[in-house]
Parts: sequence; structure tokens; C-alpha cells
Amino acid sequence: MLDLVLLPDDRLHQTSMTVEIIDGTIVDLAQHMIQTMIDAKGIGLAGVQVGKLLRIFVVQVGDSEPQAFINPEITGTSEETGDYEEGCLSIPGVYADVVRPLALQISYWNLQGKHIIQEADGLLARVIQHENDHLNGKLFYEYLKPGGQKRLLKLYEKRMQT
Ligand SMILES: [Zn+2]
Repeated sequence: MLDLVLLPDDRLHQTSMTVEIIDGTIVDLAQHMIQTMIDAKGIGLAGVQVGKLLRIFVVQVGDSEPQAFINPEITGTSEETGDYEEGCLSIPGVYADVVRPLALQISYWNLQGKHIIQEADGLLARVIQHENDHLNGKLFYEYLKPGGQKRLLKLYEKRMQT
């Protein structure tokens, strides 16, 4: 299992770099990320969360096979939005409702180097948006109002001290 990068590590606020070539190193990284995600009982994990500032994330929702997204780009979102409780392996122990579009279209490359355009909705669309935000240095609590952000960070601080 790879070490998880936890808040307040500054790397979580940084923008990740494009993957230039999908080679054995990237495949290896993705496989380790998938194992780490499963071990940590998460449903998504971005490169930055294991200290690799690369535009890659992995997702596993329900019974489906784990999936890696390389150089992803959300190319469309539904107008319809909804809220759902989110957490993050980099901010363990705190959760908050976040409003996001319910469906999306995403363009990315898979581990075989194939370009794919995929539609997603439900929990998968939720996780994809959360993970894609990580590549841009954005964390889920940043969607909350200032008061809510403050409360969540305070609670997190408290949890990290015990
Ligand atoms: Zn996260």
C-alpha cells in the first residue's frame, strides 16, 4: 500500500501535470493506486493523494472493475444537480454534502493507451468529479460556504490530534 498524502499537506492544493507517456511506470502506479484505494476502503484515489502529481485517478464503484483515468477531461455535465455526502482519503474522518451535476461525459486515456469517451451518472459521476478536482488542487470542502468549511477543518484538526 502506498502512503496517503493527508491534509494539511500543501501538495493537495497543487495542479497535477499531464501524463506524457503511458508506459510500464504508469501502469505500475495505477495498479498500486488501485490496491491502496481498496485497502483504504475508498472508491476513488488521485495521483496527488499518493504523492504523484500526475493527471491520473482510479475509481471503483460497486461491483464494477477498478478503472484508471489518465489525462481526464470532463467534457460535459448535466444541468441537473444533486447533493450527496462526500469524504476523502486525504481528509479522513470528516464528511459533508456537496452539490454537483448528476451526470457527465468524460474524455480520458486508459492503461492500454486507448482514448475513451464515457458517460457516467450516479455514484460514478460523483466520484469522477471529486477525483478530477484533485488533479486541479481542489478539495471537496471548498464547495461549502465559508462557515461550513471552517467547521469541517476544525473538526478535522481535532480528529488528527487524537
Ligand atoms: Zn478526495
